[in-house]
Amino acid sequence: MKIALVHAPFHHRKFSENLKAVDEEFTLAPPIILAYVAAILEKAGHSVILVDAHALRLTKAETLAKVRAFGPDLLGFRLDTYSFQETLEWIRYLKQGTGKPVMAGGINFSIYPRETIGHREIDYGFIGEAVESLPLFLERYGDEARYAQVPGLCWRYRGGEVVINSATERLAAFDSYPFPARHLLPNHVYHSFVSQVKNFTIMLTSTGCPYRCKFCAIAALGHWRQRSVASVIAEIEQCRLEFGVKEIDFFDATFFVDKAWSLEFCRELITRDLGVKWTVRSRVDLADEEVLALAARAGCRMIFWGIESSSQEVLDHVSKQITPGQVTRAVTLARKFGIKSLGFLMVGNPGDTEQSIARTVNFAKELDLDYVQICRAIPKPATEFHKELVRCTGTDYWKDFVTLKAGEERIRMPWTEMPQEEVERLLKRSYYSFYFRPGYILKTLRGVKSFGELTRYARAGFKMLFNHLHTDVRAGAAPTALRPAAARKVYVVIPAYNERENVLELVGKINGLYPDFNVLVMDSSQDGTREEIAKLAGLHPNVEVSYVGKTSPGNERGSAMKEGFRLALAKGADLVVEMDADLSHNPADLGALVANSEDYDVVIGSRYVAFGGAVGRSFFRAFIGQMANLYVRYSLGIKDVRDCTSGYRCFRRGALERIGLEYMRSVEGTEALIEMLYRGVRSGLRIKEVPITYLERKCGSSKFTLATITRSLSRVWELKWGGV
Ligand code: SF4
Repeated sequence: MKIALVHAPFHHRKFSENLKAVDEEFTLAPPIILAYVAAILEKAGHSVILVDAHALRLTKAETLAKVRAFGPDLLGFRLDTYSFQETLEWIRYLKQGTGKPVMAGGINFSIYPRETIGHREIDYGFIGEAVESLPLFLERYGDEARYAQVPGLCWRYRGGEVVINSATERLAAFDSYPFPARHLLPNHVYHSFVSQVKNFTIMLTSTGCPYRCKFCAIAALGHWRQRSVASVIAEIEQCRLEFGVKEIDFFDATFFVDKAWSLEFCRELITRDLGVKWTVRSRVDLADEEVLALAARAGCRMIFWGIESSSQEVLDHVSKQITPGQVTRAVTLARKFGIKSLGFLMVGNPGDTEQSIARTVNFAKELDLDYVQICRAIPKPATEFHKELVRCTGTDYWKDFVTLKAGEERIRMPWTEMPQEEVERLLKRSYYSFYFRPGYILKTLRGVKSFGELTRYARAGFKMLFNHLHTDVRAGAAPTALRPAAARKVYVVIPAYNERENVLELVGKINGLYPDFNVLVMDSSQDGTREEIAKLAGLHPNVEVSYVGKTSPGNERGSAMKEGFRLALAKGADLVVEMDADLSHNPADLGALVANSEDYDVVIGSRYVAFGGAVGRSFFRAFIGQMANLYVRYSLGIKDVRDCTSGYRCFRRGALERIGLEYMRSVEGTEALIEMLYRGVRSGLRIKEVPITYLERKCGSSKFTLATITRSLSRVWELKWGGV
């Protein structure tokens, strides 16, 4: 059979234990459970695709196109409770779009099987693990009489009565699982907040946890099971050799549980010498000198310690079974062997007060932890906290959430007197207090190993600083009209200033690739560009050059661009593309910009989406560009657009009319780009980004100066506070 697995996108929710910035920035991990499912299906002889719509930032329509192109017999999803409602929407859309049955698994089916299968969008569900039940089900697919013997299967008998088979108690040996099907994933896109090199992946050496902390959803699984060292090493070797993986985050709930296993694992990794760096999560009471010494030699670069609080009273309340003294010892030991430490801290646990939270953050600072991740204590599904919530309120919020009776909301925390707003305030204050220390910032910057790592830090920092500035866009305005493709006129507007060498080549390439497109060169040059283009225009009626007078010695790309847009509209353009004259924009990308205009009002050629990038840029320019872009996104609250300063964009006629060129005040290039985008977002235009590779110019001189950047950045605040 052909099966399409889809990793549906999910977003920060009000009930999340994390700040929004943390949910968005901490990890972009491969969907490892779905990759296991894919591997199980392939092993059973089925043909599979795994679409990671979350990591690739695909829209529903784009995902549907990929799924349709594959032509599956069945669709598969993983459901967890937090993202249940969001995933259900995706299921509904893809099911309607393909007309194919849907099967789903995941923790939500195990906790709320009847409520989950109650949604008609889902045809088949699996409680527990799928390693045996899924191939068995597919072998019997279509023969309902034999479904009853498939452990953990949920379905509707003859489309009516819901049947829930009991799941097997027996867990399959973890070694019997095939390795996750990473060959189906875009392995180059994944990263974590603290990862330093690509490719990055996550891996599991165990499932469950032998401990029983009251707030923890892993504890609720009630088991702990580990793979053999040989199996884990073989998977690491495969990752390194086949997928170029250089860094692994072991997602085990608790690493180093078994000392003998840990020593054997580290020794084997040292012997193989694969050059892979890794991070793990562990408990401070498992910190062992012999293990950590060997782990450091084997490539362990960071341990995420479950610290939670510096208050023994709070630790005891949540059954953590550790002491602050053990925390100090573990962090000191790790440092001794050059292993960094990230501390997981919590606010709002039973017994927590404003003072205890402040003491915990001070404790983290005194320990000189390399990073902290701080979260609110919330009643995650199936935890002891959740049970307490149900006891206190008489209702099960998560069950109501799954049955769509409840929406997304901040959940009550009956174990604390602190109002939720107060917990939220203390959470933010704790982050600021830890991270926004000059000494800490300098120390972290000194340890940065890659540009990607630096931009992640900067992005997270900006998000935290600016997260009070929320988007005030007017979403949902009606789409602008577009004439049918056959009658459509496309104009490419190229503002030029002393770009003779480049613009001639560019116009020639556009003509060669897209002879139906009209080209307007808006020229302010003194180097003879105009005369050269005029000669070309004599040969090609679709090429025009127009003079744009300069009013100042500075870069007036913005004025030239506006003139070009006006001229194109006057000539009856349906789509207007703007692009730079210096060959930094590849004309071959015009096709993608124009094609996507079918569904969007504005299409941006983006350097900062998956598969986008820049070639030949100096580190300095790339860094300044990234920072400026982040500044614009978060200052103006247009964070959904990743490349706000791209000058390669396609506008529908109606989009330009709605933006209101006559009201635009910006003259310089970058500030005009920002203003147009901001106006577009505020007008409710539907915007899409497509990846481009930006090529650094080969000829001519750059118009990029610090003065233009500074001016553009200050213009952001004029736009923000002065309105548009
Ligand atoms: S918090 Fe950590 S140690 Fe405690 S149960 Fe969860 S995974 Fe295990």
